[in-house]
Amino acid sequence: MKYVFTVFLGLALFSCKEKVEVAPLEAKDNTPQEIVYEEYTGVEPTKPEETEVYEPVPPTVQPYANNGAPSDAIVLFDGKNFDQWISAKDSTSVAWHLNKDGSMTVKDRSGDIQTKQNFGSVQLHLEWKSPADIQREGQNRANSGVFLQGIYEVQILDNNNNDTYVNGQVGSIYKQHVPLAKASVPSGEWNSYDIIFHEPVFNDEGKKIRSGTITVIHNGVLVQDHAEIKGTTPYIGWPKNEAHGKGPIKLQDHGDNSRVSFRNIWVREL
Ligand code: MG
Repeated sequence: MKYVFTVFLGLALFSCKEKVEVAPLEAKDNTPQEIVYEEYTGVEPTKPEETEVYEPVPPTVQPYANNGAPSDAIVLFDGKNFDQWISAKDSTSVAWHLNKDGSMTVKDRSGDIQTKQNFGSVQLHLEWKSPADIQREGQNRANSGVFLQGIYEVQILDNNNNDTYVNGQVGSIYKQHVPLAKASVPSGEWNSYDIIFHEPVFNDEGKKIRSGTITVIHNGVLVQDHAEIKGTTPYIGWPKNEAHGKGPIKLQDHGDNSRVSFRNIWVREL
């Protein structure tokens, strides 16, 4: 009986598969074309051409085209000026230090700065440096941060021989995700962050229906792997999930003479 049932089920599944119609492979827009695999068609390809697609053709991007930034990137800071930035607290001009070496440094207690432009999902590159002459400990040693959409912080901190709570250390998504590794260069040298951020999605009623995600590569080392963000990243309290749209990229003045510097900041909209 069991055998008969198995055969019957197999025949039923086989006949179902035979009826599936395969959608034609045509490119409508820039959405990546899905290859239709055998589990959808029920038919195993016999020629290599059956699993090859030729459209859509990805756009050509020149890497390192603009002082290291890709040709389609928006350069947010190249060392020349603060044209892309404003004070986060009152939208006035930036008071941070513009240095002769093409970097900027937090001006203590002048407040956070943020981009004039708002962004959704992005690929973001930035470089940052903590001072070589070390001051203080824990969260008060060269603390800054980069905030996606102004509210989701990837921590910047001098953690070299300086332990703190691990969900607040360098490379953490603040108070949410411990980094997978500690990958800082020595204090006084330039670190790089390459961040892939996918914004959260809210429905018309303002309820979050898909969490945002953050991937962080710190000096070439993966430290956040498509981490699902739970909401905002407050110092005190749980993450919040008020509906929002695009937001600025914000850099933190932690308010304790962090002296953190930044350079080479660019972004690609996803
Ligand atoms: Mg911080």
